[in-house]
This record gives sequence, C-alpha cells and structure tokens, in this order.
Amino acid sequence: MYWEKEIETMGRSDLASLQLDRLNHSLEQARRSPFYGKRFAYKAPSHLAGLGDLTTLPFTTKDDLRNAFPYGFLTVDLKEVVRLHSSSGTTGNPTVVFHTAGDIGQWGNLIARCMYTTGVRKHDVFQNMMGYGLFTGGLGFHYGAEKLGVMTIPIGPGNSKRQIWFLQNLETTVVHILPSYALRLYKFFEELAIDPREDLALRIAFVGAEPHSEEIRKKIEDLYNIKVYNSYGLSEMCGPGVAFECECQEGLHIWEDHFYPEIVDPASEEVLPEGEPGELVLTTLTREAMPLVRYRTRDLTRFLPGNCPCGRTHRRIDRITGRSDDMLIINGVNIFPIQIEKTLMAIPEIGHNYLIEIRKENFMDRLQVHVEINEEVFHGTLAELEKLQENAVAALRAELGVTPSVKLVEPSSLPVSEGKAQRVYDYRNEAEAEG
Ligand code: AMP
Ligand code: ZN
Repeated sequence: MYWEKEIETMGRSDLASLQLDRLNHSLEQARRSPFYGKRFAYKAPSHLAGLGDLTTLPFTTKDDLRNAFPYGFLTVDLKEVVRLHSSSGTTGNPTVVFHTAGDIGQWGNLIARCMYTTGVRKHDVFQNMMGYGLFTGGLGFHYGAEKLGVMTIPIGPGNSKRQIWFLQNLETTVVHILPSYALRLYKFFEELAIDPREDLALRIAFVGAEPHSEEIRKKIEDLYNIKVYNSYGLSEMCGPGVAFECECQEGLHIWEDHFYPEIVDPASEEVLPEGEPGELVLTTLTREAMPLVRYRTRDLTRFLPGNCPCGRTHRRIDRITGRSDDMLIINGVNIFPIQIEKTLMAIPEIGHNYLIEIRKENFMDRLQVHVEINEEVFHGTLAELEKLQENAVAALRAELGVTPSVKLVEPSSLPVSEGKAQRVYDYRNEAEAEG
C-alpha cells in the first residue's frame, strides 16, 4: 500500500533530521539565486541548528516572485532548466516556476506516491482531464502516472461527449478532473442516457486545483459511484503532489520529506500552535531550480491532530477552506465562498452550479447568490420554488450571519469555464455596477 514505505512511515524524529539536512541544503541552494543571494547577504542563514530556527527567516510572497520576474529566483544555469510552468493568476507579471530534470523527476515520483496511496496500479487506465500546458495539473499528473506505469490518456479538459466516449470505450478506471467539471460532465451522461454508476469501469477520481467542500466531494462520489480523493498543490512548489488524501480520506498528508509546512496567522504573521486554522506557509526541501523559503501560499487550513490509521507519519492538513485573499467582507462580516457552497450543496433540491455577486447599494453591500436548481424542482410548482428559495435564504443566513438574496435559475444556465471555476463576482469597486 506504500509507494516508498520507509519514507512514508518514517518515525517523526528521523523525519525531522532528514528535513533539517534537506533544509540546510536547500537554503544553500536558494542563496545562488539573485533574490535570496541579496536577501540573505547580511543575515546569512548558512546553517540552521534546528527546524524551529526557520522562523527567524523572512517570508517569501507572490509579489516577491512577480517582482523578480522572470529569472530572479533561478539558482541554476539556464542550461540545467528543462521546463517552465506558470500559475493561474490573472493580473500583473505571471508567476513563473522553473524545473531541472531532477525537479521533474521528484515531482513525478510524488504524484506516483499519491496515486499509489489511493490504490492505483499499473493495470489501471488513467484519463487525465486537467489542462495540459502552463498549468501544472495536466503534465504533473501525466509524468506521475507514467512513472507509476499506468496507461495515461492525455485528453485534457472539455469536449465532454468525447470524454465520455473514452471513459466507456477504453474502460477508464481513474480520472483527474476539476471538481466543478466533474459535476458539469454528469449532465452529458444524462443527455446520452448513459448511467455513469453502472455503465463505466470508473472507480477513482482525483479532484483539486480549486476549493471545493466536503459536500461537493460526496456529491461526485454519489453521482458516479466512485471514490474521490482531494489533491492539493500549487505551481510555486511544483504543482499537484504537495498534499494528498490517502485511502482513509481524513485530511491530506503533506509530503514532509519535500515540503516543510507551517501554519501562520495571516494578519500577525505569527506561527500558530498545532491545530489552529491559519495560512499554510511552505518551504521547499528538495527543489533545485527554484527553491522557496517560507512561501506564503494564502491557502487557509490547519494541521489535523492525531495519527492517521494508514500508518503514514507525514502530518495531515484539513481541506483548504479558502484563500486569505478570497475572504469577502460583507457589511463588516467575514465570509468565505466555501461556506456558501457547503450550505447550498446540503440542500437536495439545489443543482450543481452557483455564483456569488456583490454590489454596493445605498452604501450597503448586497450579496446575491445565483444557484441552479435540479431538474425535478425545475418542473415543480411555483409554491415549491418559493419554499425552496426561502429555505436557501434561511440556511445561508444561519451559516453566514448576513442575509443574502437568492436567485434560483434553470439547470445548466450559469456560465462555466474550462479551467478553474470562477464563482465570485465582486462589483463593489466598479461604478457601472452600482445602482
Ligand atoms: P496554481 O498554482 O495556479 O495551480 O494554483 C494553486 C492554487 O489552487 C492553490 O494555492 C490553491 O489556492 C488552489 N488549490 C489547489 N488545489 C486545491 C485543493 N485541493 N483544494 C482547494 N484549493 C486548491
Ligand atoms: Zn493516511
């Protein structure tokens, strides 16, 4: 059940000394980049005596990466670099991440570890529905699956009928898919009168790259009668393969032999005691081309207490609840979009897609939630619809502490995208949207 038993089940003190060795090596490597060379020129962290000393070093932020675009973080000669990826940010300089052949090899090995953990084996058929290209979801899993020895169909996202044709005719057993796309794809099965629960060989889906609630996971598991595992990563670290759910599905093991995690308070920047929720900060321990020291991911989570029944010793983080820069402040109340999702998805008559709009009206913030209803309700009576809307408002008010307006819309009528879902539209700073 383990891909690398020794490392996955290593005792905590051995793991800590491995981390410290790797950390010191990584800091030495980092200093070769123009950015860290300058940053660490005076306060030289040439050798840390303990992992705790890492907290004496400053954070690295996304802005640092942007400002050092393109080569400020590169530690090796270009002739050692074999790949570039970029993160999905839409404004300013993109964040570019470089890989040596060694980095690509480590990354593939980590993905193989993740896939193996959930029971994927050589005889499986893997259909990779994540975008190939600058985005890490496609190529990252592609190399990992090949390392594991699984036949990989590099189909990428979209073209839903063709996806279903491959799923059926190649008897695909494992997919990697955006959670929002997994829900959307289901509609096409209905159209084609194919029952994904009965007519496919599918047994596992890896979902990630965008926030999603436990309710969404359950929904996908139920619609397809499969196991769904949460996959977390970010291009700055490598891409997917940073943290992954094991067969127990109780939190994501963060692969601590490659990444050193901390949870900090995003406002005070203090390291938080074990178990408290905050922002995940990661230090790479094995990256060659572009090591990062105390990188502020902006992703909010916490360490889960206790040991995982699977026997792996690497600590687990909770499902990502949002990004610290995703938080919406509605008339002074802090809200994360994921709270809206989990509330809506717990209502059986609600469909799969929703979006959130915020506007200013008479100097007040107005939160409006547009949500698709499912087919049966769509053909129901007006009284049933009114009742559903009231229930949705009441459930959201109870969860959020503010009262949104809820607009029920037809199934499949909200906009969709091939990449990560955009669900929040904040018009408060746009004059034309006021009114
Ligand atoms: P990118 O580097 O463009 O692939 O984006 C990485 C970001 O996607 C992360 O920092 C998270 O905000 C988000 N993300 C990735 N995986 C997950 C996941 N499993 N759950 C929630 N958010 C995720
Ligand atoms: Zn486990």
